[in-house]
Amino acid sequence: MTSFVQYKPWMIERYGEPLFRIPVEIAGSCPHGRCAFCAENGSRAQQTQRQDSPLEQAEEAIRFARRRYRAKKFMLYIQAFTADLTDPDQQSILFQCLKKFEFEAVSIGTRPDCLPAEALEFLDTLKKQTEVWVELGVQTANDDTLKRILRGHDWGCSKQAILKLAGHNIHVAVHVILGLPGEISKDWKNTADELAKLPISGIKIHNLHVMKGTQLAEQYAATPFPLLNHWEYAEGLMDFLRRIPAEIPVMRITTDTPDDQLIAPHWHLEKGQFLDYVIQQMTCRQISQGDLLKAERTESRISATPVITEDGSVTFFSEDWKEHYHTKTGARLEAGQKFVAPARLKEKIKTQDIRLLDVCFGLGNNSLAAFCATAKTAEHQLEITALEMDKRVVRAAAEHFQTLETDPVDWKTVLSGLLQQSSFSSHHSSISLHWGDARWLIQALKDHSFDIIFHDPFSSQHCPELWTVDFFKQLHRVIKPNGVLLTYSSAAPVRGAMRKAGFLIAETEPGHNMGNGTVASPTQAELSGFSMIERNHERRAIPYRDPYLCATSKAILRQRQETVEARTK
Ligand code: SF4
Repeated sequence: MTSFVQYKPWMIERYGEPLFRIPVEIAGSCPHGRCAFCAENGSRAQQTQRQDSPLEQAEEAIRFARRRYRAKKFMLYIQAFTADLTDPDQQSILFQCLKKFEFEAVSIGTRPDCLPAEALEFLDTLKKQTEVWVELGVQTANDDTLKRILRGHDWGCSKQAILKLAGHNIHVAVHVILGLPGEISKDWKNTADELAKLPISGIKIHNLHVMKGTQLAEQYAATPFPLLNHWEYAEGLMDFLRRIPAEIPVMRITTDTPDDQLIAPHWHLEKGQFLDYVIQQMTCRQISQGDLLKAERTESRISATPVITEDGSVTFFSEDWKEHYHTKTGARLEAGQKFVAPARLKEKIKTQDIRLLDVCFGLGNNSLAAFCATAKTAEHQLEITALEMDKRVVRAAAEHFQTLETDPVDWKTVLSGLLQQSSFSSHHSSISLHWGDARWLIQALKDHSFDIIFHDPFSSQHCPELWTVDFFKQLHRVIKPNGVLLTYSSAAPVRGAMRKAGFLIAETEPGHNMGNGTVASPTQAELSGFSMIERNHERRAIPYRDPYLCATSKAILRQRQETVEARTK
């Protein structure tokens, strides 16, 4: 299942090569004044900041693209301000460019309210020479927002423009901004739903940037309004893409604003990292562009064969992480011995309700073991909050799980229910399952709200994101002062990270030939009966770091390696 139709592969399929865009400026203003978010240069490309003539701009850009990127095929891109396609001078420049250079296509940026009949006639003529695209800034389908951002046209105008262009067999690519002032997710959904009904051929999306010198910058300075961080934008974007037909190429999901012009938001993620994040999230959640438009979705399967562990329970080998989900000694044995028993859950539930956070739910063995351990105690409730990124593993588990006669619930049914509704409850316990990156999900959890945390991600070598000082600080924030955290890991950098985050740590000894794990708590008294762990070897204990909770695993591993090497010198 492809997450969404990326532009480059789409172009290769269509043109045999990616088309390199050659930005040329032919207009110097916009007819309606200036949109509230737009900079003085009218979205001019970096390459055309100089005052060259259009032909010189094209020549220089082609030369540069050939030299730097070995580009072979080109698309003429009329970008800055609003092209007036009825202006004979601008028309003439376009024809000159097409005559002098070889372009596979031309793409013209304009406004929905700048397409009178004469403009369409001109596009019809142009179409005889090359493939024609028109890029329309529609931004949103919400008329109140359009007024607020001073667009000077309404959604009806955008709709008419798209229909008119498509009626002339001209490809229409629309530009949309998520996070415009006053808009919330229902507005983006509505924009996507409206666009999905129209004959568009491409889409460019980005989050709102507040740029210097714009009217929005003044509003933001006077009364700062919320701007999307990368997680929020990713959520909005994924939902948006799910509503856009699956065949439409997504030409852009981020925008470039030079640092010296950007007021906010400042992300700590590069464009490529954001793209990887969105693809990873869509893959793991089994969602894809246009899937909400289809009556029946094709579910992708986890690329793994079930493996029977030595205690007879099922686990999987993850192709993504190159690891088994559990030790081969026994998936259920591990859940009992490494998590539930050292958490002393059976004893604790006799005297109090328990709130348990299950980080990386996976097949759900840890939560099931908690259910089993507490099933006989009717007086107190077990409330589990589970975090999981990968729907595929839960789906696979729902298919292959072997419920035992002694289990208090039919776990297969619970898993199927969780896939549908993300929650399950019985008379004494409940689970609410949250889908997504745990680094993001945890930020919505309240301070000091969990008695027990099961921390069960893939190993720190493969998934360092959830073993950093910074993630443990979040766990430290949400655990109660007398809470305990259990993990199977005994790796020195993991224990180093826990310590730095404020945890006291001790050893768990699960037996059955399984390696030791770690129990941690903000309070020493909670670790009584366990062997406390002395400070570990300084260099081996150098922890993983992810200060903004958004770095890639590669970046986290590299940063730690560099620190280790620096200390060795
Ligand atoms: S129409 Fe486009 S170029 Fe013109 S002010 Fe608005 S955003 Fe800027």
